[in-house]
Amino acid sequence: MRLSEFFLPVLRETPNEAQIASHRFMLRAGMIRQSSAGIYSWLPLGYRVLKKIEAIVRDEQNRAGAHEVLMPTIQPAELWRESGRYDDYGKEMLRIKDRHGREMLYGPTNEEQITEIFRAAAKSYRDVPKLLYHIQWKFRDEVRPRFGIMRGREFLMKDCYSFDLDFESSKRAYNKMFVAYLKTFERMGLKAIPMAADTGPIGGDLSHEFIILADTGESEVFCHRDLMQMAVPQGVDYRADLQPIVDEWTSVYAAADEMHDPATCPVAEADLVSQRGIEVGHIFHFGSKYSKPMGLSVTGPDGVDTDVIMGSYGVGVSRLVGGIIEASHDDDGIIWPDSVAPFHVGIVNLKAGDADCDSMCADLEQKFRNAGLDVLVDDTGERAGAKFATMDLIGLPWQVVVGPRGLKDGQVEVKRRSEGERMALTPNAALDRVVSGTMLDPATTGLFPG
Ligand code: ATP
Ligand code: MG
Repeated sequence: MRLSEFFLPVLRETPNEAQIASHRFMLRAGMIRQSSAGIYSWLPLGYRVLKKIEAIVRDEQNRAGAHEVLMPTIQPAELWRESGRYDDYGKEMLRIKDRHGREMLYGPTNEEQITEIFRAAAKSYRDVPKLLYHIQWKFRDEVRPRFGIMRGREFLMKDCYSFDLDFESSKRAYNKMFVAYLKTFERMGLKAIPMAADTGPIGGDLSHEFIILADTGESEVFCHRDLMQMAVPQGVDYRADLQPIVDEWTSVYAAADEMHDPATCPVAEADLVSQRGIEVGHIFHFGSKYSKPMGLSVTGPDGVDTDVIMGSYGVGVSRLVGGIIEASHDDDGIIWPDSVAPFHVGIVNLKAGDADCDSMCADLEQKFRNAGLDVLVDDTGERAGAKFATMDLIGLPWQVVVGPRGLKDGQVEVKRRSEGERMALTPNAALDRVVSGTMLDPATTGLFPG
């Protein structure tokens, strides 16, 4: 991709409205543009990251045995009357009337809709278990939309729903999502900690919020320091018993705000991490909360009808863009992990128009692309300082600087964004260094050809 052809409206000044780093950098790097409070357009750089995050979320859902669907954003009010939530949901729900005066709403979530779909299809115990998910925009008229896309009103969520015959089977679905979440966030370079969350009137202990630690987070969380060192399991077989993995992770204390009581907390003060965090996912077993009022039941092997047991599993796909930036940036800008970086490498042409520089840049671009890397070439006429500042701001993992002076000695400069210093290398050594130093994620490679 040539920067001269790309759409990257970078801002030099820091916008006043942005209180936290991710919001500031997303606006400055031309990733998003506010449309109205809590509602944003995604510009090319931001959209590439959003799509890559979505691809990783999707890949892990598929691996866990969930099937993708796509439900509408606009739902009929009747469905929500069936569950009783039309009146309960309150002002967060955006209510709309169509031309016939029928009451509709912009979905804040999809439990009712998926229950209705499954109800029409499922008859017997043979139709369960099932896991269905979609990745769709939601609308919640939040009291205080803020921090950019972190707490938006319109936001992209992955929501998965499980359908099971009994509690034991439902727990297996819960465990699949628990493990899939550990892997999903790890693939984005995040350390997300599952924290016991409130189950409210449903009861039980099957509710966890996945939280990344960050000072700008809106939740207060508490956990044993050992959790920070725990390794995410590799090569998981989702058909196997996942209970040992879940037990391992839940045996160490971790609780979200409303679940933590200093009086009963089992962790010694010296071992307790108390920090702010960002909720990036939430898994929740809710039994027959929707299936009972909405009449979703199946006939069991014994011929008796039983309510289907359900759970829901959300990931804040658009919030993750901000969450990753909060977890990985410095004063100069973003530092993307390889898996979700909008481009893996930025080539800076210090003298666009110079035949040697231009051809070296084109050659490197082609070779990086052949190796599966996404490349942005700054071929503009900006001065060097501005080019470097933009590259640091947009946070591509690698920068390769091509200038006439270096080329005379047969060298280009390579900089790893996370480390900072530049090294002079031959073009071939630079290629080698960058390609071997990049961890390509299979789900996000080749997502943007060209
Ligand atoms: P929060 O406590 O942050 O409002 P929630 O409990 O309302 O979240 P869920 O209904 O569990 O959230 O939604 C699933 C996921 O969607 C959350 O874990 C979060 O990552 C994301 N999410 C929820 N509300 C928003 C929002 N207003 N903007 C962006 N992402 C959101
Ligand atoms: Mg909320």
